Amino acid sequence: MIYKRSSALFAEAEKVIPGGVNSPVRAFKGVGGTPIFVKEAKGAYLYDEDGNKLIDYINSWGPMILGHAYQPVVDAVVEKAKKGTSFGMPTEIETEIAELAVSMVPNIDKIRFVNSGTEACMSAVRLARGFTGKDKIVKFAGCYHGHSDSFLIQAGSGASTFGTPNSPGVTQGTAKDTLLAHYNDIDNVKELIAANPNEIACIIIEPVAGNMGCVPPQNDFLQKLRTVCDENNILLIFDEVMTGFRLAKGGAQELFGIKADIVCFGKVIGGGLPVGAFAARNEIMNHLAPLGPVYQAGTLSGNPLAMAAGLAMLTALNEEPEIFNRLAEKTEYLHKGIAKVLSDNNITHTINRVGSMISVHFDEAEVVDFTTAAKGNNDTFKKFFHGLLNEGVYIAPSAFETWFITDALSYDDLDFTINAVNKVAKG
Ligand code: PLP
Repeated sequence: MIYKRSSALFAEAEKVIPGGVNSPVRAFKGVGGTPIFVKEAKGAYLYDEDGNKLIDYINSWGPMILGHAYQPVVDAVVEKAKKGTSFGMPTEIETEIAELAVSMVPNIDKIRFVNSGTEACMSAVRLARGFTGKDKIVKFAGCYHGHSDSFLIQAGSGASTFGTPNSPGVTQGTAKDTLLAHYNDIDNVKELIAANPNEIACIIIEPVAGNMGCVPPQNDFLQKLRTVCDENNILLIFDEVMTGFRLAKGGAQELFGIKADIVCFGKVIGGGLPVGAFAARNEIMNHLAPLGPVYQAGTLSGNPLAMAAGLAMLTALNEEPEIFNRLAEKTEYLHKGIAKVLSDNNITHTINRVGSMISVHFDEAEVVDFTTAAKGNNDTFKKFFHGLLNEGVYIAPSAFETWFITDALSYDDLDFTINAVNKVAKG
C-alpha cells in the first residue's frame, strides 16, 4: 500500500499540531510509521487520502457500532443542522434521548449529557465525592477513564496506598486521593479499603476493560466489588464508555446482572458525535446542580446535533436488540478463525473476547490484568499491525486496545481478515 499523501499530510500537521494529532494514540508511536489520514468512511470500510480501502476494526474507538456514515444518523444530523447548531437553551430532543437511555439501561432514573467520556467520568467522581462526603477513589491499573487529573495515575512502584502521577501536571495532592488496585483482584481492593477506613467515596471500573486489550471480569469480580462497596458505604461507578449500548441494550450492568450506583457513557451514545453522559438513581442525581450542590455544566452539553445523532443510534439499537447477538456471533467467528490460523502457524497467543470486544495478545499466559497484558510480545504485535495494514485491515495502533466489531462487517470481511492474519503469520 502507498501512504504518500498521508505522510505528506502528517508532515504538514506536525508543524501546527503537537505530534501532528489531536489525541496521542493516533500518532502510531506504539507501532512506528506515520498515521493514515482518512478521507471518508462508509459501513465497515475506511478510505484513506491515498485511495486505500481498509476494513476498520477501530470504528472511531467504539462509537460506530452500526458502521460508518450510518444513514439514519447522517440524516438526523443533517436535518437538525438546518435548524441551528447550538442554543445553550433546553431543547425537546434532550428529554427524548434521556427518556430512551433511561428506559434501556437498568438502575438509572436520571441522566446528564456532557461532551466526552472524560467529562462523564470526571463528573461522576465529583458527584460520588459530593454525595458521600469522602475524598478518595479507587481505580484499577490499566483502566482508562479519560484524561482528567484524578485518572492519570499509573500502576507499578508500590502503588498500593498512594498513587504516583504518570503525567507531569498532575499534582501529588490530586494523586494521593487516587488509590490503585489490580483488576480482578478482590483481596487487593479489600486491603485498600481496610487501609483507608471511611475515606473512599467510590470505586470506578471498566466492567469489561478495553484499555489494556479486552480484559473480562473473572470469578464474579464485579459481584464481589458490589458487595464490598455495600459493606463500606462506597459507590460503585461503572465506566461504560466502551461497554454501554455495546455489550447489551443495558450495557455491562445488564450482561452481568450487577447494579452500579453511577454509570458513565460515551462513544455509542453519541452516534459518532462528541457526547458523554452519566446517570444514576434519583437519590444520587438530585445532588447535581441546579437541584443540589455538586456543580457540573457545559456550554455545548446536550448539543442538538449530538443529541440527534445519539437518538438515531439508540433508537436503532433499541428497536433491534438482535444486533447485540449478531455482533457477538461475528466476534466469536473472528476469534475462532484467528485462533486457528495463529495456532496452525505456531504463533503464541491468547485471545480475549466479550460480546463485540476482542483483543489478540501475543503471549500464552491468560491476560487478566495490566501486568499480564503488558507481557505480550510487542514486536510480534507490531509485525501484525503493519502486516495487516498492508493487507487492508486496520486494527488499533497499540497492543493495549480492544478491537471494536461493527454490525456493518460481513462474513466475507471476517474471512478476508482471517486470511490476512494467516498471510502475516506465514510471512
Ligand atoms: N472511559 C473509557 C472506558 C474509555 O475507553 C475512554 C476513551 O477511550 C474514556 C473513558 C474517555 O472518553 P473520551 O475519549 O470521550 O474523553
